[in-house]
Amino acid sequence: MGALRRRLTRAGLPGLIVTHPADIRYLSGFTGSSAALGVTRRRAQLFTDGRYTAQAAAEVSAAQVQIVTGPPAVAAVQWLAAQPGVEMAGFDPSHTTVAELARWRSGLPSHLRRSFLSITGSSPNGSSLLESLRMVKDEDELHLMREAALLGCRLFDHILKHLRPGVAELEIAAELEHQARRLGAEGMSFETIVASGKRSALPHGRATTTPLPRHGFLTLDFGIIHKGYCSDMTRTVFLGAPRPRERSAYQAVLKAQQAAVSAVTSGATCMEVDEAARGILCEEGLGEAFSHSTGHGVGLEIHEPPRVGAGQKTRLEAGMVITIEPGIYYPGEFGIRIEDMVAVTRAGHEVLTPAPKALIEL
Ligand code: ZN
Ligand code: ZN
Repeated sequence: MGALRRRLTRAGLPGLIVTHPADIRYLSGFTGSSAALGVTRRRAQLFTDGRYTAQAAAEVSAAQVQIVTGPPAVAAVQWLAAQPGVEMAGFDPSHTTVAELARWRSGLPSHLRRSFLSITGSSPNGSSLLESLRMVKDEDELHLMREAALLGCRLFDHILKHLRPGVAELEIAAELEHQARRLGAEGMSFETIVASGKRSALPHGRATTTPLPRHGFLTLDFGIIHKGYCSDMTRTVFLGAPRPRERSAYQAVLKAQQAAVSAVTSGATCMEVDEAARGILCEEGLGEAFSHSTGHGVGLEIHEPPRVGAGQKTRLEAGMVITIEPGIYYPGEFGIRIEDMVAVTRAGHEVLTPAPKALIEL
């Protein structure tokens, strides 16, 4: 909250309304789905409804809690408008619909309707005030993210024992997700990707009833939620014995992935990290098949700023956690992707997902 207040002061904003659940959790600890947070330079008040009375009392530390019967965000805006010295409050346009804004305004006295709510300025990289705060993780957050990532690695180890021709992709996803729960995950951070054989050429190939083939790649991309924090990792393994072209394509992706991981250090730009992977795949003649960016930030949400892609000038800072996940895709043939979670440190980086990356043949 202190860091947020410093930013509010710098932005000349006396108040802020926060409605995005991940932002509310980040600032106050509250994990309920219906809430709004009003923040001024002195006070913070969380508004939620009666279903969350006990939960809010248990979870919220950095704000006063007020239970309301109407929409929490309308109450938060009214509260902000009633605070002494708060003649204006910012809101995040990327998490506010036009309809919500109209509802908030209609709850205000008529003389404030036009001027009270103001779009919070975004930083040069386009991220909002809270996004840029959340981008840099503190020690407690890094600790949880390390635990989340290691749980992911244990799942990969576990699932290897279940991979054999004929087993349906969905069965693999089910086993992985069941084991995730057994190991203490709160849930999956996104829909598990199990893409085998020709389907590995789909970058987002969700698990289907397709049986695993006797010969072909299998891409597993999955993540869990641990104390609110998401993990994200991808490994591509081979069922059967790879042909020379398949083996060399895998080696090229691995080389590109390792080069991008090595490029992660505080002060480097996201585009430099992307270029480290892209350059190698281009050299190998595989550049055209690398159809997405190299990675993304991860934290309370599975996709957060920064974007690690071409043209992204954001500079990495110690405490950021990003994924490095180059991949190549040949529709009708095969695809390969390798993804690690990497924390930026002062001296370089720390790989949070130390699961093996040498090609596993099953
Ligand atoms: Zn992933
Ligand atoms: Zn990812």
